[in-house]
Amino acid sequence: VEVLVLKESAAGERRVAATPETVRKLLAAGARVRFEPGAGLGAGIPDQAYRDAGAEPAGADARSGADVVLCVQAPPAEVLAAFKPGAVLVGILQPEAEPARAEALRGRGLRVFPLERLPRTTRAQAMDVLSSQAGMAGYKAMLIAAQLAPRFFPMLTTAAGTIRPSRVLVVGAGVAGLQAIATARRLGAQVEGFDVRPETREQVESLGGRFLDLGVSAVGEGGYARPLTDEERALQQQRLAEHLKGIDVVVCTAAVPGRPAPKIISRGMVEGMKTGAVIVDLAAETGGNCELTVPGQTIGHGGVTIAGPLNLPSLGAVHASEMYARNVCNFVALFLKDGTLSFDWNDELLARTCWPAPPAQETPAAAPAAG
Ligand code: NAD
Repeated sequence: VEVLVLKESAAGERRVAATPETVRKLLAAGARVRFEPGAGLGAGIPDQAYRDAGAEPAGADARSGADVVLCVQAPPAEVLAAFKPGAVLVGILQPEAEPARAEALRGRGLRVFPLERLPRTTRAQAMDVLSSQAGMAGYKAMLIAAQLAPRFFPMLTTAAGTIRPSRVLVVGAGVAGLQAIATARRLGAQVEGFDVRPETREQVESLGGRFLDLGVSAVGEGGYARPLTDEERALQQQRLAEHLKGIDVVVCTAAVPGRPAPKIISRGMVEGMKTGAVIVDLAAETGGNCELTVPGQTIGHGGVTIAGPLNLPSLGAVHASEMYARNVCNFVALFLKDGTLSFDWNDELLARTCWPAPPAQETPAAAPAAG
């Protein structure tokens, strides 16, 4: 079985899907591992480190020869076109994000595993790329906020007088939000967070934050948030608008799976905020939680700075890659054993992640053992 580690082609993407550590594990599982030269440079991994781990640099035939291709983001159509039919592709692929991509993935007859589709069960935790990457995103979002803010985060008692700590509000207390809260606490800010899932109260408090109760609870399928009704949204907005007037820094992380980011901070709310306040909208990727967010840009609006950074995990490419590569390697271990590939479609992690849905007629016994 030949495993290929791709060099990412998306602009600004510094992460890589394998590290020397995971290369060794793949070799131990009986694979031959090749890497595209320079694949790890953005994540601080020189080619020699892959070689030392036992991987070989990919030659011109590597793409067409690979049985399993590991990547972070979906490769462009011209790269997909080089893979052989039936090759396995593993990454954060978002196959339906663009019609051309869906077509290219289908057209090549690839076996596609977009890891963002992985069910978030206990067994899948070690493969959960959404969690590992969201942790880095939340951390970086708060650091960007601290950088943009014209204030200290901590309380300071100095000869020049006492400085009050910044008041930070985190919107959405999922994986990214909780990491943002933890980061702001480490910097000494006074932190509050809210979410529509009631269990987040305890999680926010366990990190030393205060839970801001806006009186809205909206749990939907699979324990995730559901979109708010108009009444719930109005209630949330009304209570939030008043509260935001005293806040120095907002980090937004609210999301509902498969939907555009909920709009939570309106233009009017921004206009009611202090001069010098900062909003970092991590939800910019899916449109933003703030009505004024411009994805990929930092703008000013009446004295308030609003940043909509994209691909935050890539800013912490070393650790983001380290975690991502382990996630990928753990997932690959579901179908790569003793140097052969076999897909047990009774395994819900494989069956539910596979895109489109796996071939129904293919029983575990009939699965082709490539390589
Ligand atoms: P996410 O990125 O989809 O959403 C981020 C947060 O935004 C969520 O906490 C969500 O409740 C919140 N949100 C959505 N709409 C909102 C609104 N209008 N106002 C305020 N907040 C809003 O979520 P995530 O961080 O990927 O994960 C969230 C859930 O997944 C959690 O329940 C988490 O425990 C669960 N999870 C489970 C596992 C597992 O192994 N079982 C692993 C990871 C995550």
